[in-house]
Amino acid sequence: MFVCRHVWTTGPDAGKRCTLGPRMEDGFCIFHSQADEDRHWPDDLAGQLEERARRGLPFEGFRLQDVKLRRINLTGADLAGIDLSGADLSLAQLVKAKLQKADLTNAFLFGANMQEADLSRSFLLGADLAECDLFGASLKSADAFGVDLRRANLSVADLTGADLTEGNLAGANLNGANLQNTKLVDAHLEGVDVSRANSAPNLAGDE
Ligand SMILES: [Zn+2]
Repeated sequence: MFVCRHVWTTGPDAGKRCTLGPRMEDGFCIFHSQADEDRHWPDDLAGQLEERARRGLPFEGFRLQDVKLRRINLTGADLAGIDLSGADLSLAQLVKAKLQKADLTNAFLFGANMQEADLSRSFLLGADLAECDLFGASLKSADAFGVDLRRANLSVADLTGADLTEGNLAGANLNGANLQNTKLVDAHLEGVDVSRANSAPNLAGDE
């Protein structure tokens, strides 16, 4: 049986080697491979990932760049630190998903349900989160330069210390959001009632 070079540090298999497949050139499985070679993802990739989420299995170290996972249901999944850059997660169910430090650079999350998701310290540069439901989500210290949050629901969200420089928040709902030290320099705020947030954002770029 193929054994991947990755050793789980979390979850029920902590301390054991990963046994997912198929094997890639560098001795890792397709999910953990560092190689740049083209990956032929299994046809039922979304189903496999949904099954892991349902069973509470870890996604630790997964590198899922550019995968197509529209409408996937990963409710409550622990996706901390994983690489989903360029991935299409439009209309996905990501309620209460743990995405701390996840790389979502240039990811497509249009219309995704991310209520109460933890996106603290995540990388959202250039990501499309238009019409995303981020009610009560944490974007604490998120690196979200140029993020698209048009018409997103950010009510009661925690944006403390997040960098939304040059982001587009036109029509977004910021009612009760925490904007302490949130950087909104050159951000588009048409139709946004910032006064309904519970703290004032940093619009000038001063520290
Ligand atoms: Zn692996």
